[in-house]
Amino acid sequence: MKEINYKKVNNKKKKIIIVSIIIFAFLILGIGGYLFYNSKKLKVNLVSDRVVNINDEVYNNDYIKNVKNGTIISDKENVDTSIIGKKKIVLKIKNYFNNIEKFTYDIDIVDREEPSIDYRDRLSTTEGVEIDLLDGVKVSDNSNEEIDVTIEGEYDFNNVGEYELYYVAKDSSGNIKKEKFILEVTKKKEIAKNISNDSISYFTTSKGFKGYTKNGITYIDGVLIVNKTYSIPSTYYTGDITSETRSNMNKMFADAKALGLNIYLSSGFRSYNTQKIIYNNYVSYDGKEVADTYSARPGHSEHQTGLAFDVNQVDDTFIGTPEANWLSVNCWKYGFILRYPNGKTNETGYKYESWHFRYVGTELASKLYNNGDWITLENYFGITSQYNY
Ligand SMILES: [Zn+2]
Repeated sequence: MKEINYKKVNNKKKKIIIVSIIIFAFLILGIGGYLFYNSKKLKVNLVSDRVVNINDEVYNNDYIKNVKNGTIISDKENVDTSIIGKKKIVLKIKNYFNNIEKFTYDIDIVDREEPSIDYRDRLSTTEGVEIDLLDGVKVSDNSNEEIDVTIEGEYDFNNVGEYELYYVAKDSSGNIKKEKFILEVTKKKEIAKNISNDSISYFTTSKGFKGYTKNGITYIDGVLIVNKTYSIPSTYYTGDITSETRSNMNKMFADAKALGLNIYLSSGFRSYNTQKIIYNNYVSYDGKEVADTYSARPGHSEHQTGLAFDVNQVDDTFIGTPEANWLSVNCWKYGFILRYPNGKTNETGYKYESWHFRYVGTELASKLYNNGDWITLENYFGITSQYNY
């Protein structure tokens, strides 16, 4: 009985030991398995700075420092960085156990670039004339958002002066671009004043002659004046040389013909628009500065008055011909003046034109003839011939 009891006790101990061993074995296996699994677990290390400028070229694997226990199987792909904000990137990675895992990470898309402004650095207007300072100004930015431009600085269209102003463009990320420009407000030109309806202004020249400008047309001592200082409106149109000019011209030509000279009209009345075409054509050949020495700007040509004309060969080959010589000493008898005499460029604004004559009537013409030493209209009246624009 006692022995049996002993055996029973012994069996119970054995059972406990076996169970303990089994539990311990599972525990070891469990821990070992866990440790093993853990050591083979997929680990992805990312680059810490994942801030990208908008529209930069970035690839989906650019921010992976290294991968432990796995291989990226996603193809290398461009990431769309056109929108500011957080951007999710998903990569497929094959882990140690040949299973495919999805790995997700974020990058920050920001805009650090200021917009750029396409503008003109100098604008100009006449006092009292408002212009749109934003006209033609274009802004572009690396983000495709609409960006407004504002103007910084003070200006006044009614006050003559130079204003230093800025175009300011700001994008939604707070990047600011500033560009300096100048607004020039200039004094109203005399011409603009003269053109205004029924305006009349009186003046006295430096030599004491009384003159006036009415509706853009200037008379001094009753003589219509057109030169570089004094213009006539584009609407001034006689269509032909005036009848008085023509009859005196014809008489002059006939008298010359009787002496065996051949003088003929080569250019008479020219409209504003014709002069514009001629002048612009010269400018395209010679440039404005040179063209201004021999061709009048539209509105500044005596040919538009119907009181002036050119004869024969309209260039320097006419100088010294019997016809030119005869005209220069006889034209005044018919009321004409040699309008642009030799050596008087600083007075008339034009080089010597042996072929260009202007009707002023015999009284004034004889004074200007001055026994062969031609006095210019400008010198006689005491006026200038200079463009003021
Ligand atoms: Zn001419």
